[in-house]
Amino acid sequence: FVPVLTIDGPSGSGKGTISRLVAQRLGWHYLDSGALYRAVGVAAGWADLDLADPAALVRCAFDTRIGFREQAGELRVLVNEVDATDELRTETAGAAASAIAAIPEVRAALKDRQRAFRQLPGLVADGRDMGTVIFPDAPFKVFLTASAEERAERRYKQLKDKGVSVTLDGLLREILARDARDAQRAVAPLRPAIDAVRIDTTGLGIDAVVEQVLALLPA
Ligand code: C5P
Repeated sequence: FVPVLTIDGPSGSGKGTISRLVAQRLGWHYLDSGALYRAVGVAAGWADLDLADPAALVRCAFDTRIGFREQAGELRVLVNEVDATDELRTETAGAAASAIAAIPEVRAALKDRQRAFRQLPGLVADGRDMGTVIFPDAPFKVFLTASAEERAERRYKQLKDKGVSVTLDGLLREILARDARDAQRAVAPLRPAIDAVRIDTTGLGIDAVVEQVLALLPA
């Protein structure tokens, strides 16, 4: 039996950072499921596919090769063998991911790839439906939240540090729009698993959240 800790929540809830740190501390594998959706979105863009053509996008989800590589302590993502890490982080890629993630056949196409990450000694799975759909039998489940304002603020700082010029207001609007789309879509809407422990990270530092998550696991 391979243990899984699922960490779901909206964008900017701190999921990515917390999941990576927790995986490091446990020495477990890490799945960034959002990166898979982003990768398919970016590959679709490269191929000039129409985001309104589900059949083409489903084919793209099956055909896109996605690889993860640790480099200088950073996780790099390869899309069809090209390092697309920086492009994947853009809000354009996030919006494309969110659009294609609403197609049930795209989600189904990525299911087995996600489950393949479940390997000893354990897996920390970061996403939207890790605890509800992909790993419903996971023994440990967390749902992270934070106020939309704080999530916009975090994203703003991240992007500013990278030299990307954005406005806080614009980001807040984008985050609210993506949240609404992710929560309202018919397939795998964002919601906590019934057995997930909810942690509101508003006003909490990264270390405090990491400790709270680790405390859920047996020592
Ligand atoms: O987590 P991240 O912001 O990278 O995810 C990008 C988009 O991919 C989300 O807005 C969501 O629509 C979609 N997604 C999903 N299911 C997941 C992970 C991401 O639908 N498990």
